[in-house]
Amino acid sequence: SLKAGIVGLPNVGKSTLFNAVVENGKAQAANFPFCTIEPNVGIVAVPDPRLHVLSDLSKSQRAVPASIEFVDIAGLVKGASQGEGLGNKFLSHIREVDSILQVVRCFEDNDIVHVSGKVDPKSDIDVINLELVFSDMDQIEKRMDRLKKGKAKDSQSKVKEEAEKSALDRIQQALLDGKPARSVPLTDFEKDAVKHLCLLTMKPIIYVANVAESDLSAAEDNPHVKAVMNLASELQSGIVTISAQVESELTELPSDERTEYLTSLGVNESGLGNLIRATYDLLGLRTYFTTGEKETKAWTILTGMTAPQAAGVIHSDFEKGFIRAETVAYDDFVAAGSLAAAREKGLLRSEGKDYIVQEGDVMLFRFNV
Ligand code: GDP
Repeated sequence: SLKAGIVGLPNVGKSTLFNAVVENGKAQAANFPFCTIEPNVGIVAVPDPRLHVLSDLSKSQRAVPASIEFVDIAGLVKGASQGEGLGNKFLSHIREVDSILQVVRCFEDNDIVHVSGKVDPKSDIDVINLELVFSDMDQIEKRMDRLKKGKAKDSQSKVKEEAEKSALDRIQQALLDGKPARSVPLTDFEKDAVKHLCLLTMKPIIYVANVAESDLSAAEDNPHVKAVMNLASELQSGIVTISAQVESELTELPSDERTEYLTSLGVNESGLGNLIRATYDLLGLRTYFTTGEKETKAWTILTGMTAPQAAGVIHSDFEKGFIRAETVAYDDFVAAGSLAAAREKGLLRSEGKDYIVQEGDVMLFRFNV
């Protein structure tokens, strides 16, 4: 499943948030029968009411939601890119995630030391950005040295190397200005040519503004949150306000008391739900469903994926042996009541390998093994 890495300076609330995610995952464990949970990974289900509607219609034995894995990447501090301490190891963990969540401290509390002396989101964000920028510069320099030796074997790889060089030139310039690689306009071909470098500043970032519980209902009034909002739009990133403390308290409450607690704070939804929605929006994610008596399941794909690629999310054999996909839109499935009824009504389409999967499609894949 999709991986989001939690980073941030010390004492901003990372562990508090991560532990809430882990507890949440434990409570949901029955929903994730095939997941092996590692110590630095927590799993959150993607809330989706459509899953249960489909599951009821199909009388499924179980409903399996889509999920996002949150990876705890503690230890990203000033100097990490210079290889101080374990810094470089943490940076390499970031290379493996699909998106970065940076927790930014927006709560005041004199008892909890701030590494730079005071709560200052701009400075926190700058410090982390700089480490990511340094790490990318380093990586690009090494790569450029190799490219200069020009080892391309045939004309096709030569063309690709030229595209990579040109893209890296422009990215390098942006990094020197302190701007992230994702701010550089690239063609699809260039994007593909630099993909193997897994540049850190190419990854989408969501800033998680961690506020005091009393600020949760009117977070925009908090000047620190405002500062994060401004930076997020400048850096083409997302922002979500959350109270890590509240998330952690929520996991300790029985589910019927959670809504009551949230209402008392003036909000109607847990922050984890918002965080997942923001991640979906920022990454341009879509959901499709498979449904039957055994189970109804939600699957996460990228916008624009074809039917075979979507099938590959279930299993690589489904992609390799793809023949066609029986497909019906969610609303049509619900109106008909079942796949068989949808077929009778002519609502079930047989889609081939070029079909672009649409949000909410209910799919049944036919494939060779
Ligand atoms: P980390 O170093 O970033 O992992 O930070 P922690 O999650 O360990 O939090 C550092 C301290 O801040 C802990 O004592 C938390 O209880 C506290 N803390 C976290 N979130 C909040 C919050 O929203 N309000 C207040 N007052 N304290 C918080």
